[in-house]
Amino acid sequence: MRRMIVALALTAALIQTINAQDAKTVISNASRAMGVEGLNSIHFYGVAQNGNLGQNNNSNQPWPMTAANDYVRAIDFTQPASRATWQTYAVPVTGGAATLTPGQQNITPQNNTWAQQLEIWITPWGFIKGAAANNATARAQTVEGKRYQVVTFNSPIKSAGGQPYKVEGYINSQNLVEKVRTWLENPIFGDMLVEADYSYYRDNNGLKFPAQMVQKRGGWPVFEAYVLGAHANPANLQQLLTPPPPPAGRGGAPGGARAGGPGGAPAAPTSEKLAEGVFRINGAYNALAVEFADHIVLFEPGPQNEARAQAVIAETRKVIPNKPIRYGVISHHHFDHTSGLPAVVAEGITIVTPEVNKAFLMNALSAPRTLAPDSMSKSGKKPAIEGFTGDKRVFQDATRTLEIHVIKGLPHADGLVVGYLPKEKILVYADMFNLPPADAPVPDPPVTGTIVFADNIDRLKLDVDRIMSVHNLNPDRLTSVADIKASLGRK
Ligand SMILES: [Zn+2]
Repeated sequence: MRRMIVALALTAALIQTINAQDAKTVISNASRAMGVEGLNSIHFYGVAQNGNLGQNNNSNQPWPMTAANDYVRAIDFTQPASRATWQTYAVPVTGGAATLTPGQQNITPQNNTWAQQLEIWITPWGFIKGAAANNATARAQTVEGKRYQVVTFNSPIKSAGGQPYKVEGYINSQNLVEKVRTWLENPIFGDMLVEADYSYYRDNNGLKFPAQMVQKRGGWPVFEAYVLGAHANPANLQQLLTPPPPPAGRGGAPGGARAGGPGGAPAAPTSEKLAEGVFRINGAYNALAVEFADHIVLFEPGPQNEARAQAVIAETRKVIPNKPIRYGVISHHHFDHTSGLPAVVAEGITIVTPEVNKAFLMNALSAPRTLAPDSMSKSGKKPAIEGFTGDKRVFQDATRTLEIHVIKGLPHADGLVVGYLPKEKILVYADMFNLPPADAPVPDPPVTGTIVFADNIDRLKLDVDRIMSVHNLNPDRLTSVADIKASLGRK
């Protein structure tokens, strides 16, 4: 047995050596075939669409796609830097007439996080350059009957977990990059697979470019492009890479890191007592803490990010001391409402959501988190998720009743719930509408979410005095059924 292990180890070492030599050959063959030798920059254009990760209408379905028309991208591999522009025709979320809105993605040497840089190194040409520069290894692999040379390199940038990011490229028998895979940290998916597929290669004067590009994250496309043309080393590279100055009179930040989203320092939460044992935990996303005889239930326990969820939990402990937070009811599965859930799991809180979301959240939150260890992975706790069936889940003891109702007929998300305290006549909701100013005219057509909300309140015959929104209304306040119906022109 021991001799066999030694023999196996020797064989493994031999394969490693062969692979190290093979990798150089594989990369130089691909480099020649794809026209990457002498390629310092590239310009390509076509029609594309972007997927909104974590905002699907059902947790088991693809990310919603928005058009990215007139898509143009330039990449300078030497800096590295990249700029893409496009335009989208859509109705704004606030309602009103549809408009053509410009979009952009800028990657500069200054935004040098791997999340940014990988958008350069997972392109077919970037992959070849990254592999050539970073001691790649190679192995042969057959996938669905097709033979590939799989070239792997590690990023020079280290993850928060201390290890580099692994990048794998699948090179076919024509020496073309067909697929690139890497893994990136994500609060919900943990070590999230990012895979890019490149197919139907075309040739422009020796430069090979895929007519079709698809990038998937978490299993669904986040980007798709049909490339109409590509050029090596464009003479107007600097012009292509330079964003226009912001419009006069507005100090807008030049495009770069996207505004908002998780990552910003969370505001210190304060809270507001709405009734005996009922507290609004205030923040950019509000949570509702409800005291029972021997425990606490939190509505919207894990919004935004880990730090925000930890702040919500700490504030809840402060206003309702000496009781465990036993349940955390999420309003819906969208990632801006759930990216703090690892911190919720770390606290031993059971996540409560309709059954439609359970398998998705269980799979995602159970995935390894080696690239960015979080409080959940450090705690060693496994997610506890109660997926309830039917239209409601009632929390009740001698002191309190909290009803959780599934909203029906809402396009925004399946399995979206509201919380209702029948005795206190308080209702908490997220994402169905933003109440317009009282003197604003009734929008035509009215906002769908508002209609759905009002109809569900009527259907459930809920007797509500005060309505709390997870997102702050403008101006921030609790609202009423009368206000909501007035905004629809209803009595
Ligand atoms: Zn949402």
